[in-house]
Formats: sequence, C-alpha cells, structure tokens
Amino acid sequence: MVYCRENIARALLDLGARENVPLADLVSFRVGGPAAFVLQPKGEEELCRALALCREEHVPVLLLGNGTNVLPSDEGFRGLVIQLSGNDRSPVFEGEKVVAGAGCSLTALAKESVQRGLMGLERLCGIPGTVGGAVAMNAGAYGGEIKTALRRVRVYRDGAFLWEDARLEEMGYRKSPYTWPGTIVSAVELQLLPDDGTAAATMADCMKKRREKQPLSLPSAGSTFKRPGGHFAGALIEGCGLKGCTIGGAQVSELHAGFIVNRGGATAGDIEALMRHVQDVVFNETGVHLEPEVKRLEDLTCIF
Ligand SMILES: Cc1cc2nc3c(=O)[nH]c(=O)nc-3n(C[C@H](O)[C@H](O)[C@H](O)COP(=O)(O)OP(=O)(O)OC[C@H]3O[C@@H](n4cnc5c(N)ncnc54)[C@H](O)[C@@H]3O)c2cc1C
Repeated sequence: MVYCRENIARALLDLGARENVPLADLVSFRVGGPAAFVLQPKGEEELCRALALCREEHVPVLLLGNGTNVLPSDEGFRGLVIQLSGNDRSPVFEGEKVVAGAGCSLTALAKESVQRGLMGLERLCGIPGTVGGAVAMNAGAYGGEIKTALRRVRVYRDGAFLWEDARLEEMGYRKSPYTWPGTIVSAVELQLLPDDGTAAATMADCMKKRREKQPLSLPSAGSTFKRPGGHFAGALIEGCGLKGCTIGGAQVSELHAGFIVNRGGATAGDIEALMRHVQDVVFNETGVHLEPEVKRLEDLTCIF
C-alpha cells in the first residue's frame, strides 16, 4: 500500500512505523479499513521528524489518541496515522500539580490522583481515552470536565513543541482549541486540589453509574451525538422509538439509546447510515438536530 516516494516510506518504517494496519485495531468502534502507515512516536523528536517527512511529500496525516471518539472509513486511510497512546512515561506529580504526557490514560491518571489524596479528575474516571484526547474534546462526565483542572498545554507550533497557558475561554462543552486537525498536544499541566474526603466515593459512584447505564460490553465510541440544548440525545432517540434500531451490524444500544454499538461485524458504513437515520427520524419527529460528537475520519485528515 505504498503510495508515497519509496524513500519517504522507508524513512517512516525506519522511525518504527507499521505498514497496512487495520484502523479497526486502533479505534473503539472496531471498524475501518487499513491505514497505510501507523506510528506510535516514542517522543516529541520522533513525532516532529515524522511530521517533517509527511510535509515533504504531502502525505496526509491523521492523529489519534486511544481512538475512542472516532469513526474511520471502510476504505481505510492512505497516509500516516500518528497514535499518541501507550508510549508516555508516568505522570509527574508535584504538590497539587501534575504534568502528564498526551498519551497517558485519563482513567489511570484520575485513579492515581485520588490515590495521592488529590481531587479534580475523579468524575472523569472511566472515560476510556488519553489525556491528549480529553483536552482535544474537553471530555467531561457527571458534572466534571478536564477544562477545570487544565492550566498549561504543550503544543506543536512551527516545527517544535512549546508550553502555553491554556486558552480556557475558548473551551466549552465538547469544544476545544487544542484539537486535531492542525493542533497537536504532547503534554498537559493540571492543577488539582487537596481531597476533601469525597474523591474516592465520587469516583466509585461515577464508575458504578457507567457500569449500570452504558453498554460497555460492546464496541462503541460513547455518546454518538452531542447533548442538544435543553434536551438529552438519548431520551430524544428513545422517545422516537429507535432503541434497538439496527442497520447491518450497527445498533442503537438497547441499554442506552445515546450509544450506537457494533453488535459484531458492523462496517463503518453501517454506523454512518444508522447515525443519519437517527438524525433524520429525530429531526422529523421533534425538530431537534442531533450533532455528532463522534469525529469522522474525513474531518480529521490533514496535509500538514
Ligand atoms: C464507552 C465509552 C464511554 C465514553 N464516555 C465518555 C464520557 O463520559 N465523556 C466524554 O467526554 N467522552 C466519553 N467518551 C468518548 C471519548 O472517550 C472521549 O472523547 C475521549 O476524550 C477521547 O480520547 P481519545 O484519546 O480516545 O481520542 P481519540 O478518539 O483518539 O480522538 C478524538 C479527537 O481528538 C483528537 N486528538 C486526540 N489526541 C490528540 C492530541 N494529543 N492532540 C490534539 N488532538 C488530539 C483526534 O484527532 C480526534 O479529533 C466515551 C467513549 C466510550 C467508548
């Protein structure tokens, strides 16, 4: 599946990129065709080198964290996927501050913070993405969001990474200036608070709610649609009788209508078709437009 100059392909492979990797292995929906190259950079230098190579040859780039909010395409991706998960060193705690690499697991960081007598992330425990993905999405749950703790962000600017104060005023519900395409976060600094004695119980309660209310045994990308103003997406979808609605292997979860799940054998096309069907029915019956929270691969491809 080599489509760029042989020397660029060779240089990417020399950096440690893998060739012809199913996107289904990289995203939580477990769908998607092959990516030409996938690289898990070992550090910023390697990441900068890969981006420079792609720029040289106009190779499209796709940035992923843990792939828990992304819908790839069945055709795959003729470019380089940079996967910023799994390769980061442990977070560094100093008093109530913590610096964490973008690839760290958000849930692991939340648990470690609570173990260290700190609060601020306990409601985010159970969100299955990376710290970088959380900042990119301003991930949140049960009244908490990452923005509250975010202080500084290490971002890619003009060929290098630098720290900048977080532009919190630009962050909102599932909205962040620190998101691909175009922006790459390599690390964040968070300001936590001393535990007032409630953090562990809050964390356990949030995890219990997830286990009870979410279809965690089937592949999904969490909430398919954003919460429309004044409504809950799941309630609207359920109200339109769409719980259990199925196209191919994709199904509106029978447990939580806000989730589309892969019941087994779904294609990305099945999921897209079901998303469109749900949007059409909900709009026709209620007048409310459901905006996808899940990011489609087409919107994430960038020639750097
Ligand atoms: C079972 C389940 C439950 C979920 N529950 C919640 C929930 O309660 N609340 C919630 O908010 N979300 C939830 N999600 C969705 C998802 O986990 C979050 O959006 C998460 O923050 C995405 O992180 P990720 O690392 O998987 O990012 P990805 O899905 O890999 O990427 C998401 C977007 O962020 C960009 N991105 C990723 N890393 C970076 C980076 N380092 N720099 C710049 N851009 C980047 C990607 O290009 C993409 O545009 C859930 C998902 C699942 C499967």
